[in-house]
Amino acid sequence: MSENSGRRRPLPVAAPLFDGNERAYVLECVESTWVSSIGPFIARFEQEFAGYCGVTHGIACSNGTTALHLALLGLGIGPGDEVIVPSLSYVATANAVRHCGAEPVFVDSDQVTWNLDPTLLDPLVTERTKAIIVVHLYGRPAPMDAVNAFARRHGLRVIEDAAEAHGAAYRGRRVGSLADVAAFSFFGNKIITCGEGGMVLTDDDEIAARVRQLKGQGQDPQRRYWFPIVGYNYRMTNVQAAIGLAQLERLDAFLHARAEIARWYRECLVETAAVVLPAPATDDETPVNWLFSVVLRVESAQAREAVMTKLRQQGIDTRPFFPAIHQLPPYVSFRGPADPSVAEWLGSRGVSLPTWVGMTREDVERAGDALRTAVKTMAPKLPTEARSDAPHELRSVGARVR
Ligand SMILES: *Cc1c(COP(=O)(O)O)cnc(C)c1O
Repeated sequence: MSENSGRRRPLPVAAPLFDGNERAYVLECVESTWVSSIGPFIARFEQEFAGYCGVTHGIACSNGTTALHLALLGLGIGPGDEVIVPSLSYVATANAVRHCGAEPVFVDSDQVTWNLDPTLLDPLVTERTKAIIVVHLYGRPAPMDAVNAFARRHGLRVIEDAAEAHGAAYRGRRVGSLADVAAFSFFGNKIITCGEGGMVLTDDDEIAARVRQLKGQGQDPQRRYWFPIVGYNYRMTNVQAAIGLAQLERLDAFLHARAEIARWYRECLVETAAVVLPAPATDDETPVNWLFSVVLRVESAQAREAVMTKLRQQGIDTRPFFPAIHQLPPYVSFRGPADPSVAEWLGSRGVSLPTWVGMTREDVERAGDALRTAVKTMAPKLPTEARSDAPHELRSVGARVR
């Protein structure tokens, strides 16, 4: 089809694909009447997903935020405790800390990987610090060796927020198996989905037992309707688990298709100086591609908005990076990175592009070409050198992607 042959199909940022056993499994739930939070798919999904990640225990729950909340509670995090959280993440990472009554302390991002910068952890630790949450942002594994070594030295626990990284690995081990406890999300735009859903993974029997009790109103596992502690209703339904299991069966194929999409975007955008691509993986990292995300060398968030509007007018949906959490109203009073931070810079310049299984090469090139053109129209305002208003030199990042 030529450029002018009429309207082309809209490209959303994300879209789930149900091309496996989803229908059959959901029908099984309906026909058996097991549609609530008891039923065979729940244990199957838990065991299969934990096994996939190389972890002993999987505890399914209602969403990724409740998974994070349960993971923190499983470690005994509570009021008065401090938890170090990357500032560049989805707000749920910090909200879960607040749900425990604990206080987030925000750590800045590494400008190359966009993940938390482990060299900045030291000054953040106080006698109240109990844990560090790492986020495998956009599917790239966080620097686990550095974080785990730091945590061991300071007697801290580590939680993986793996909501964006199903199937990613670090030094040959899957995310979800790299810390004390991990939380996954199966929201509709994630790599695999249950509609809404989450899971806690851990190798620790005690954490697993505590999480399982807390997600079901605190019921005594030996005695029905006896509640020795205050718990939550954070259960997953059999229907959600049925969809999740069918999605899990497709995960490797999905990851393969997403890797291909990422490769097409890179080929399309590699020559565009104003678009900073994700840095190539190191030998330690086996990333997955959640949303293919880039950073625009534009002078402001408004300029980014103008680029995104241009794409939207062509039916191409994009998404800005998360704003740095320490800038959000509920979090401005908590300790955050020094000003100006890498997290704010990325948060105001980053854009996620359509990334979903079923995109054709033509779709990817259409989005990539539209981005190139839109960024170029901003070019008169772009000096060739890195921006003077940018707090951090990005030429080194550019050098890595060329
Ligand atoms: C999606 C996401 C969550 C929350 O998951 P929900 O299922 O939407 O509650 C948490 N952390 C990160 C990094 C996410 O991307």
